[in-house]
Amino acid sequence: MYDLIIVGGGPSGSAAGRLAGKRGLRTLLIEKEVFPRYKACGGALSEQAMSYLDFPIPDEMRERDIYGARVHFRGGVIERHKEYRIATLVTRSILDSYLLEEARETGIEIRMGERVVGYEEHGDHVEVYTKDNVYQARFLVIAEGSRGSLKTRIRRRDRMDEYGICMVAEIEEANETIDKYIHDAIDIHFGATYMGYGWIFPHEKYYSVGIGGLTKYLPDPKKTMTDFLHANGFHGQYKLRAGFVPVGGIKRNIVGSRVVLSGDAAGFVDSFYGEGIAYAIRSGQIAVEVISRAILHDEGLDILKEYESICETEFGENLKYSLMLSKLMYRFPGIFFTILTSNEEVIDRFLEVPALKRTYRDYIRWLIPRVPRYLLRQRTK
Ligand SMILES: Cc1cc2nc3c(=O)[nH]c(=O)nc-3n(C[C@H](O)[C@H](O)[C@H](O)COP(=O)(O)OP(=O)(O)OC[C@H]3O[C@@H](n4cnc5c(N)ncnc54)[C@H](O)[C@@H]3O)c2cc1C
Repeated sequence: MYDLIIVGGGPSGSAAGRLAGKRGLRTLLIEKEVFPRYKACGGALSEQAMSYLDFPIPDEMRERDIYGARVHFRGGVIERHKEYRIATLVTRSILDSYLLEEARETGIEIRMGERVVGYEEHGDHVEVYTKDNVYQARFLVIAEGSRGSLKTRIRRRDRMDEYGICMVAEIEEANETIDKYIHDAIDIHFGATYMGYGWIFPHEKYYSVGIGGLTKYLPDPKKTMTDFLHANGFHGQYKLRAGFVPVGGIKRNIVGSRVVLSGDAAGFVDSFYGEGIAYAIRSGQIAVEVISRAILHDEGLDILKEYESICETEFGENLKYSLMLSKLMYRFPGIFFTILTSNEEVIDRFLEVPALKRTYRDYIRWLIPRVPRYLLRQRTK
């Protein structure tokens, strides 16, 4: 009997595993893939994400530190840089392996290449099934990412308008060429998809190029991606990979009696620009903070309900306002993206959000009253 079983070794499962090990919980983490495994991602690790880790990201993993953004919309382009770092770019397979090793170091058991196919909650424990084994634990954290189905016993399936689909390609290029294209900033193309955007991120000897948008409005993501690649001068044959992002906000059930959902499985992703690693890490940690109180301090099962309220307090507001911003922007794209790509202050302040210098709520409250003025200024130009 384990104290805790964690399903999934992505950022959320690893963060949960590391804290569980540090707290002395007898923990088993089960991951269906053998790491290092490919994960479709832009590889942007925000300052917020790094702030949750109790160890630094090694220099050799940080391919480029990002200080700014170049934003495009209907022919308009604006580039702004901050004096402080807002994110760093990493390769996901390397990052995830590293995070998992940091969890293993605390003494937890990790089984790779074993898929969890189901679980059953009993009065005093949970039974977890894989093809060949049955495991038992007092608590279960499901950190299976966006496409798993274990979560649906607790949380209803997302509707088409509640998750986004992304396509991404890693395109090899010499660093000198990348530096000429863009140096220490990310390239964002609004309008490349409806309710989403295209990106070109400069990594070490490759670009991450991708598009993402609400599944409902992206009937042929492969074509949209090919059009985006061609429009930006990429004409080779590239391997295109798809990934899914839950972007419908966080109003969903995320705890059972002995089970907690974390990361993408709980729907913790920024709806506006799809950042999820920060929330995956922090929610995995909060899950274990709550579970370890139940185990180590013998607090009742009701304590699990606190998981939802702590997540809500710590980052729920950011996710709620990111959804609000996304709805506003995409309902009135002409107005908002024109402002975003024509006014330095608007983009400057937006960059403060991933850098943890400003919340979404502050940003929206600052932006809304200024919209008529910016619009007027734009029209009289
Ligand atoms: C194309 C794309 C680009 C993105 N770009 C960014 C970005 O630049 N920055 C950012 O912050 N976020 C980005 N995101 C979002 C980010 O990738 C996710 O929010 C993040 O990976 C969530 O972490 P997680 O640990 O919850 O899930 P995951 O990282 O998906 O990890 C889940 C793990 O669980 C394992 N698993 C699943 N089912 C089972 C099972 N039944 N049994 C055992 N193991 C299982 C999987 O193999 C996987 O390793 C992007 C997403 C996509 C799709």
